[in-house]
Amino acid sequence: MPSPPIPYRGRFAPSPSGALHFGSLIAAVASYLDARCHQGTWLVRMEDVDEGRNQAGAADDILFTLEHYGFEWDEAVIYQTQRKQAYAQAVNHLFEKGLAYRCTCSRRELVAQARTGSFGPIYPGTCRDKHHPVSARHAIRIHTTDTPVEFTDRLMGHQQQNLQRELGDFIIRRRDGFFAYQLAVVVDDEAQQVNQVVRGHDLLDSTARQIYLQRCLGYAESQYLHLPIALNPDGEKLSKQTHAPPISKKSAAPNLYRALKFLGQQPPADLQRDSLGYIWQWSAENWDSNKIPAQSSIDEY
Ligand code: GLU
Ligand code: ZN
Repeated sequence: MPSPPIPYRGRFAPSPSGALHFGSLIAAVASYLDARCHQGTWLVRMEDVDEGRNQAGAADDILFTLEHYGFEWDEAVIYQTQRKQAYAQAVNHLFEKGLAYRCTCSRRELVAQARTGSFGPIYPGTCRDKHHPVSARHAIRIHTTDTPVEFTDRLMGHQQQNLQRELGDFIIRRRDGFFAYQLAVVVDDEAQQVNQVVRGHDLLDSTARQIYLQRCLGYAESQYLHLPIALNPDGEKLSKQTHAPPISKKSAAPNLYRALKFLGQQPPADLQRDSLGYIWQWSAENWDSNKIPAQSSIDEY
């Protein structure tokens, strides 16, 4: 497995569509400890790019919870809603390179015309050479190629995805004018010089798209570690959609213990009754990314 880069720059990038829940705490803990153990820098970025999903007060609440749990970020928090100019520049850059184009297909047309893959309709390239005017209501897509994008995840091992066959040219700016998450992440990671991404397994299948965008834009490529995700007793991912409860600000020690346990770090049972200071000290001294289980599992705490 590849080893982390030096100097290490990692981040935690929550979406403020609700309060922090146990699933997001796992990504926060793992990205934080992995950065600390490599004498790295750890950043927090608010991924509020999908503005329709933002919940009033959630960003502040997430930061307040992180602080309460004893996380310390090294640079100012950035908000994607403040970064639209940077995203627009990246899209322009892709247009200049002949890699982006406007698409006026509606979802209904695509469902009718396109084959369906595991990510929905595989875009057949309908608008590639149509040169639609800026005035038309449109999304913006990026040209993909018929070659696999390959990478080695620190935990999940070798991965590959043929974007053209599995997704087709994908969207980088949506029809409603919002920039796509895939684009925003890549532009922000480059701007913040992030070189190590530790996050939930549910984003493993976004990674090839992000690496492809990094290559198209001439950016540095990051290294990845995709964590197992916590499932509820019905086997569903803990998320805002599955109504995962927010983690309580009052139970920092037991919740950190529970996250360490979930991440395979084998914390001693007494740790959950220790001070936050000691929990973080123990965690930093004992963190071992090789102990993280690759399988997602039900959180049985
Ligand atoms: N904002 C994404 C989420 O909360 C995480 C994106 C990332 O870590 O790259 O699911
Ligand atoms: Zn189209």
